[in-house]
Amino acid sequence: MERSTIVRVHEGLHARPATRFVKLAKGFESDVELIKDGKAVSAKSSVKLMLLAVKENQEVTVRANGADAIEAIEALIGYLENPKAGLEDEAEPQSPAKDAGQAAAPAAAPQSASSAPSQANGLRGVAASEGVAIGPAFAHFPPEIAGQGRMLQADEIAAEIDRFRAAVAAVQARMDRALAQDSLSAGDRGIVAALRDIAVDDSLTGEAEKAIKGGNDAISAIITAASTIAADFSAVDDHYLNARADDVHAVGRQICLVLLGQDDVSLENIPEGAILIADDIGAWDLARAPLKRIGGVVCGHGGATSHIAIIARSHGIPAVLGLGDQINALRTAHHVALDGNTGQVIIDPDAATRADFAGRVEAAAKERAGLTAFKTVTPKRADGRVIEVAANIGSLEEIEAAQEAGAMGVGLFRTELLFMRHMHLPSEDMQAETYAALAKAFAPYPVIVRTLDIGGDKPIAGIEFPDEENPFLGWRGIRMCLDRPDIFKRQLRALLRATVHGNVKVMLPMVADIDEVRRTRVLVDECAAELKAEDVPHATFDLGVMIETPAAVLIAPALAKEVAFFSIGTNDLTQYIMAADRLNPTVAKLNDVTNPAVLSAIELTARAGVAAGIMVGMCGEAAGRPDLIPAFIKMGLTELSMSPASIQRAKKAITAMVAGE
Ligand code: PEP
Ligand code: MG
Repeated sequence: MERSTIVRVHEGLHARPATRFVKLAKGFESDVELIKDGKAVSAKSSVKLMLLAVKENQEVTVRANGADAIEAIEALIGYLENPKAGLEDEAEPQSPAKDAGQAAAPAAAPQSASSAPSQANGLRGVAASEGVAIGPAFAHFPPEIAGQGRMLQADEIAAEIDRFRAAVAAVQARMDRALAQDSLSAGDRGIVAALRDIAVDDSLTGEAEKAIKGGNDAISAIITAASTIAADFSAVDDHYLNARADDVHAVGRQICLVLLGQDDVSLENIPEGAILIADDIGAWDLARAPLKRIGGVVCGHGGATSHIAIIARSHGIPAVLGLGDQINALRTAHHVALDGNTGQVIIDPDAATRADFAGRVEAAAKERAGLTAFKTVTPKRADGRVIEVAANIGSLEEIEAAQEAGAMGVGLFRTELLFMRHMHLPSEDMQAETYAALAKAFAPYPVIVRTLDIGGDKPIAGIEFPDEENPFLGWRGIRMCLDRPDIFKRQLRALLRATVHGNVKVMLPMVADIDEVRRTRVLVDECAAELKAEDVPHATFDLGVMIETPAAVLIAPALAKEVAFFSIGTNDLTQYIMAADRLNPTVAKLNDVTNPAVLSAIELTARAGVAAGIMVGMCGEAAGRPDLIPAFIKMGLTELSMSPASIQRAKKAITAMVAGE
């Protein structure tokens, strides 16, 4: 018997909802299938079900055959018609691959290289996180795993299958043990659960067993099976499902390691002060590593705006990335010195270089110690006007570092991470809680939340982006939000609700036309009216804009009459004024905020804002540059927002400037 329905499960049968569906289906004796577009798969395999790529609002049929077919159909149809099915009862599912593979909102590249390596064995990469470091090398190159490359004899097959099953059971048990730990954070739990779902699914293991029966050794079999299933995931037209391909490889790798009797290379044992050397590190692996012990990071992959760079910068870890194949020269290094300001990396430095770096590390530590006195300073201009030195952050986890640094509020809360971390769009309630927590943490200081600034270069699950030739000139930021009022209004409603808890201000990214502000205001008013009618507590916020397009600079006088503040986004403003891609190292020289063209755009903006009597701030990376701060203050900027690591130095620069030093 069978019954059809329209799927209401939010975001469709993605990972968790799919495995919960499978769990439910497995509770029935009957054979159960799910059919979409004429294709039927077993409802008892989460991998097969995910590969069916069932989305919200699509029609599907549940077919069951067996003693309890009626009950099975009842229960499974009920599940499919519940928008919250599979999403409510466990930690948020996250894709390890997604976390590892997608960059957070980019920040500007530190200045490019200047000095030449002092030693012949010096290498040059992308200067991705400032500071110098020297220490023992900790090479993190997980070994390539290969099968035995010989066919099994018929009498070896049964034992090989047993060996394989034992390895799968060991991996499952390891994952179950990890999930049982109370200390596991919600994020970790979601990641492990997603992997466990694949490990326990017989699509992968069944495929591998078939290959073993055909005479392949267990390692070759699981590698091939993982590649086949991963290729299926890669071929689906869905970003979230594409990311599952890496999950399948990750599970396959774990099974191989057990078969080989090896442990995975872990960052847990990195010695104090060591320099982490890797071809690539998943941002997730790095975020979970004992960051306090890591002295520096050197990587073959990555650039100044990659996820690894952002993590390194926010934790004050010097990093040189993007070394390419040169990284192989570091595999056997004992000691490494690196300069995150210039991109210089030196393998096994000689005595003179060691002494030089040790001196620089000490000087940097002294500078840091001297700067702590500025943590509590409230910098003021000569006329007594307070200059707010605020933090740029992208998650609640960064609040502590910002407060430790002495941030006077948040000048840029990038909401992209909130959207990128999950496999479905964050709900209004979840967003309201996040923004409220932020507001409460910094009250009475203001927090400026930037509405979603995402585009085709960083797609997120739940929003379909068109393929674009030039994503940076495409459907991103406010453009996308205004076209998707369902997403935008959810965020605006959450912001209106959070504003009752503190001084929330809201700013719009990528504004190029005054109409974008006006249309946003209409939506804000609509949201406020809805909340009022629903009796939901809310309060109005100040609405400002980022000035990061040349168009916004040129219409700044008109914009200033319509908004409460400006915040200059020098990262994008520089790339758009100079027509130099901020991610392209070959035009890094042009991507220079000190170019007179960019400084003149900043000045025009400041003049327009000051004339209209609104606050003019800056949240691009240039805001934290002590060499430029005096010029910005003279132009009339009264708020500077930057990575927490730059705050004390900026406060010092303002204090020195006012004192006439
Ligand atoms: C900017 O463009 O300067 C900015 C702060 O935004 P983002 O780096 O997130 O694009
Ligand atoms: Mg920007």
